Amino acid sequence: MAERADDSPRWILQRTAKAALAGALCSAGARWAVNAWRRRLAGGGRVIILSYHRVTLDFRADAQQSLPSLLISAQTLKRQLEQLARERDLVSLGDACRLLRERAPRRAARDAVAITFDDGYQGCHDFGLPVLEALRVPATMFVPTGYLGTARRLPHDRLLASLRELRRRGLTPGQAGLAPPLQAALDRCAGPGPTTTMERLIAALPHDALEAVAAALEARLGMAEEELEPGTRIMGWPEARALEAAGVELGGHTVSHAVLANLPPARARAEIEGSFRDLAERLGHRPRHFAYPNGYHTPAVRRMVAEAGYEAAVTTEDVENRRGGDPLRLKRKVLWENSTLGAAGYSEALASCNLEGVFGTIGLQRPVSGERPDAPDAAEGRVAG
Ligand SMILES: [Zn+2]
Repeated sequence: MAERADDSPRWILQRTAKAALAGALCSAGARWAVNAWRRRLAGGGRVIILSYHRVTLDFRADAQQSLPSLLISAQTLKRQLEQLARERDLVSLGDACRLLRERAPRRAARDAVAITFDDGYQGCHDFGLPVLEALRVPATMFVPTGYLGTARRLPHDRLLASLRELRRRGLTPGQAGLAPPLQAALDRCAGPGPTTTMERLIAALPHDALEAVAAALEARLGMAEEELEPGTRIMGWPEARALEAAGVELGGHTVSHAVLANLPPARARAEIEGSFRDLAERLGHRPRHFAYPNGYHTPAVRRMVAEAGYEAAVTTEDVENRRGGDPLRLKRKVLWENSTLGAAGYSEALASCNLEGVFGTIGLQRPVSGERPDAPDAAEGRVAG
């Protein structure tokens, strides 16, 4: 969630400058130099795992109501995947894991890219699946099982909607008027805008407290999660099964979309094991892969994911996957609509530079680690498990 989309002159200028820089770097051959360097880092052909969230038909309209950095239009998704497929092998996440286990890759191997989607938005089924099918691209979708087939919305969508509504009414988070403990939590996390406040709440609060703040804000504003914009709906199990039938694998993303590093160990274990059980029962086979909500993981959480039966887990750390690395800490690059948006629309140069990690290599982007310390009673959790 590093970049914001808006139409301010400053943002358009930044976007134009970045696209121009990307074009200059790519035409100057920086892209090839960076790729060669990254291939050395990776120990051969690179294995890149991409992360998307919600697929929409109308990015500009939906970005007004939701977090823009979670959105990609079906049209841009198609262009990104077409561009990727021209130069790289698009593989399943299972094949990406297998490639990373191989110690001695062929030096000449093409880079491999695996596509993943987080959160199970209905739009991934309605608008994303047709793109994947048309281009025959394998993919994995990580779903929070407790939301499938319900009208409930994910915490980040609920919080963003109510914090934006608060601002629309001319109120700051400090003027929300919640009950004292919830108001205190909101005060501690209040940022310059709704997105920052929402991100800070998610990073700081245990899941129950986060849901309590969301519910209290909704009650205060006369809102209901079931009535949030339809695009924030999570798919049902029939759609999930349709995805699997079409070759899209489903993976775990907890039951409640809970940030595991913020939970007591027993609760974290229940979220991880519950997601495994739900998927196995509903789909008729064991799920293989897991994604940490908000990208946060701890040593105890990673152990629990393996003990639950998952073979591998993905983070949102945008660094190079190395062969022989920890399969419970797979690195991913998050892409969205504007990852490839230049001043004049879709920019292949910008897409290339983002994919090659040119901006990170020259220090324009810093990866954020999802590693968090274990909760204090983690040892107890291990014994209990
Ligand atoms: Zn998520």
